[in-house]
Amino acid sequence: MSHYRTFTADDAVAWAKQHGGLANPEKLTHAEEVGDGNLNLVFKVFDNEGISRIIVKQALPYVRCVGESWPLTLDRARLEAETLIAHYQHCPQHTVNILHFDQPLAVMVMEDLSSYRIWRGELIRGEYYPQAASQLGEYLAQVLFHTSDFYLHPHQKKAEVARFINPEMCEITEDLFFNDPYCQHERNNYPAALESDVAALREDNDLKLAVSALKHRFFSHAEALLHGDIHSGSIFVAEGRLKAIDAEFGFFGPAGFDPGTAIGNLLLNYCGLPGLLPLREAADAREQRLADISELWHTFTERFQTLAREKTRDQALGCPGYTSQFLKKVWHDAIGYAGTELIRRTVGLSHVADIDTITDDAMRLACQRQALALGKALILIADKIDNVEEFIARVRQYS
Ligand code: ADP
Ligand code: MG
Ligand code: MG
Ligand code: MG
Repeated sequence: MSHYRTFTADDAVAWAKQHGGLANPEKLTHAEEVGDGNLNLVFKVFDNEGISRIIVKQALPYVRCVGESWPLTLDRARLEAETLIAHYQHCPQHTVNILHFDQPLAVMVMEDLSSYRIWRGELIRGEYYPQAASQLGEYLAQVLFHTSDFYLHPHQKKAEVARFINPEMCEITEDLFFNDPYCQHERNNYPAALESDVAALREDNDLKLAVSALKHRFFSHAEALLHGDIHSGSIFVAEGRLKAIDAEFGFFGPAGFDPGTAIGNLLLNYCGLPGLLPLREAADAREQRLADISELWHTFTERFQTLAREKTRDQALGCPGYTSQFLKKVWHDAIGYAGTELIRRTVGLSHVADIDTITDDAMRLACQRQALALGKALILIADKIDNVEEFIARVRQYS
């Protein structure tokens, strides 16, 4: 930590001038800290006309939303920058462009996406981006395929797994997704009225066994370089465009975790919609969410299959039928991980605005119950749901 210091807005301006790659860096005049996340500082750096031009993001040596009592590795900034750089290499159209990274300061400079909007906010307001789901499927197929054993040389793959070791951030996921909701923990956060539903999670041994298997695969299956936190708040959208940001949880893990997180967040929105929009609009938006999930998965598998056909280097993995077999496993994992996301966002430390911003207490509680019931069901029957159509039929039972 020897050269580390916390950036001020002026530091961010100076840094952006030096490392932002702008033709007229002298026009940058001021910065504003806009971070709304749980962990880091994010500065928007503006020019003399008040237009935001460059983003400077710095990791803090502790969890921002908790304080200095929860220290956290600065190495996560390296993992975020290197994950995004690797993903940009394979899918530049859907990954934020990292322009510069400084390891001692844990600071990255990146492309300004102020003309985009965070997808979660748009989903909450009922703004539909018809291409977003298929673009997310394209992103996931490109980055997961090109960082997997289908594509990388076995030596390179192993070196990459080592480069992306991310124990402290993985531990957060391991605790928040797979432990806390299934035991009594001080980090848990849910209303008293939900107590009996949450107690039922702790007493459900079949559920806990299925969660154990999901956690075990998260620990041990280094299938591809995951984004690791691809919820709708890590995705910027604009008309016809989509870009992923915020990859500090990046590591080599089970390929189903990323699509599972994405699907889980579409389902959290699905559960919250009756409390967010008027009846008729909520019903239409729910149909859009189901169509989004279908679109995401179909694009993901079709693109992955095409890439595998054209680019698989390993002889055994190129065996006809193997890609389909692998994607079936990824699908079952994704359903299970989506279920854990529904549950942990409802009873664990970190919630989603899709449900928390519902103002009517009874309505919010009903949405939380639905998220829990759906999450539980998905975890328990993940391996029995063979395709998206069956999946959607299952989700419809929770309306
Ligand atoms: P954290 O890791 O703390 O969650 P994020 O990377 O998610 O930080 O960024 C927090 C917020 O900062 C985003 O929700 C967005 O509002 C803003 N932000 C982050 N990156 C950019 C960017 N490249 N362009 C514009 N705004 C950004
Ligand atoms: Mg974030
Ligand atoms: Mg965050
Ligand atoms: Mg983050």
